[in-house]
Amino acid sequence: MQIIRKSGRGANLENYELSCATFDWNNCQGEIDYFTNSKINAAFNAVDRHLQKGRANKIALYAIDETGHLEKFTFQEIANQSNKLAHALRSLGVKSGDRVFVFLPRIPELYVSTLAIAKLGAIVGPLFSAFGPDALRDRLIDSEAKVIITNKILKAKLQEIQHGLKDLEHVIVVGDKDEDLKESEITYDKLISQAPNDPICEALPLDHPLYLLYTSGTTGKPKGVLHAHGDIIGHHMTAQWVLDLKEDDIYWCTADPGWVTGTVYGIFAPWSNGISVVCYEGRFNAHEWYSLIDKLQITVWYTAPTALRMLMKAGVEAINDFELNSLRHIASVGEPLNPEVIRWGMEAFDLPIHDNWWQTETGMQLIANLPCLPIKLGSMGKPLPGIYASIVDDKGLELPAHKLGKLVIKPGWPAMLKGIWRNEEKFQEYFKIAGWYTSGDNAWKDEDGYFWFVGRADDVINTSGHRVGPFEVESALLEHPAIAEVGVIGKPDKERGEIIKAFVVLKNNVAASDKLIAELQNHTKNQLAAHAYPKEIEIKTSLPKTRSGKIMRRLLKAWELGLPTGDISALEDE
Ligand code: ATP
Ligand code: MG
Repeated sequence: MQIIRKSGRGANLENYELSCATFDWNNCQGEIDYFTNSKINAAFNAVDRHLQKGRANKIALYAIDETGHLEKFTFQEIANQSNKLAHALRSLGVKSGDRVFVFLPRIPELYVSTLAIAKLGAIVGPLFSAFGPDALRDRLIDSEAKVIITNKILKAKLQEIQHGLKDLEHVIVVGDKDEDLKESEITYDKLISQAPNDPICEALPLDHPLYLLYTSGTTGKPKGVLHAHGDIIGHHMTAQWVLDLKEDDIYWCTADPGWVTGTVYGIFAPWSNGISVVCYEGRFNAHEWYSLIDKLQITVWYTAPTALRMLMKAGVEAINDFELNSLRHIASVGEPLNPEVIRWGMEAFDLPIHDNWWQTETGMQLIANLPCLPIKLGSMGKPLPGIYASIVDDKGLELPAHKLGKLVIKPGWPAMLKGIWRNEEKFQEYFKIAGWYTSGDNAWKDEDGYFWFVGRADDVINTSGHRVGPFEVESALLEHPAIAEVGVIGKPDKERGEIIKAFVVLKNNVAASDKLIAELQNHTKNQLAAHAYPKEIEIKTSLPKTRSGKIMRRLLKAWELGLPTGDISALEDE
């Protein structure tokens, strides 16, 4: 089944074939502002340059706090505040290349801090506010953090581990008064109020480090991925193509900047295009989310399959109190997007949801369902202009259409990772198959050039000689009306090599029974080949997820087999 987009305003990228044939990353330099000698600064491109382009008084940020209170900030205000904080950081001794971490909820100071650090050429370390002390310690020690910007509440977690942080010199605290502070702490407000407002952007080489972000930890210990200022070229173009951002859009990226989607597509990419961004401090809640879209008249929405599945669980009724027709484009990333979720999206929003694929390491979207292309349900879409993606075997030889293999990319796109922090060996591993960038995901491509995600390399199940991806089994189960969430693993079996086991969470008000399990098995047999049905199904009240919302199949497997769980610092608290 294919879904064609509703007609309306034309997409920014209208002719996919022509763009792919003619586009060259070296020819889009006019989109970005450079200093002399090809020097650049991502923060300058995200904010300061707009002041000369008639956007000084345009709203850059709609910030809604936990209580629902709305504050608006113009590009001029964000530029001023980030200049002041950058001056203040410099006066504290922060230099180019120093690691400065941001451990804040989604409040305006998070955005200002990110830009201020980048303006100095120091390295931004985004940290998700729900991290516990262990996750915090791992990252701050590994990266030898010099400064951390946090708030009154979150600093308690830092204090638990601070004695072990030998390199940490300053803790900047948002929302605290002077008298409540310890010696190494300074108030954010005081720093800003005393600092000058002069422009302060450093002119930097394209490969100068911009941010250091740890991966989600879905498959193992999170890796510290290093990205550079030149990434902004990729951020800028992909936001135009994939998110289809236009001057008058009000855009909401639901990802926290503690994850790559929130940093790249919640801050740099939309702002580089001068777009008004929404930041919402609250947690997931179907009612609040819909109310936000209605109240702010959000037009473009970038979210994740987990969130969409939760909205689906809340039912279309939850939408009835709201007008959501401001929405004109929806995109999703982070996990495979089940066809059932897209069908539900058509019903709920009268819009297709555009899945796209990328990773912390790739630094920008690489494969996407573009607004100008028909969506094939269950496919991640096609490689963007300037991107060469392929499916290869273990030696790096390209495979024909419909053959399952490793998803790889030809290196050289602007936002490709520059390194893994203090781990050159790990960095080199990404390129060890015939020079391709190896993603660690398995996929296949069809005769029209669409890519289809099958699973992480480690998740693919081998049952009676057939290779089965957890995603297809999960998607089939999700089509059954009783199922809210599902995670599928391969369980060792003497006869078959592996059997398929599914862990399912039932929708509210659905009762568990043997009859239901048999029905689910039959349902999957009817949807997929007979060998791909789950021989075992276990009902759970929740599934283990990373803090970024991804199902941790490796944990389901470890628990099932009584094996060591490995690194679980990424596990979300229930
Ligand atoms: P870790 O590398 O620590 O195990 P992670 O891979 O989940 O964690 P991220 O970089 O946040 O960390 O996620 C990238 C991965 O997310 C991809 O490699 C892929 O497995 C999955 N992913 C992202 N988008 C999609 C998508 N549209 N369809 C399928 N999978 C996706
Ligand atoms: Mg990964």
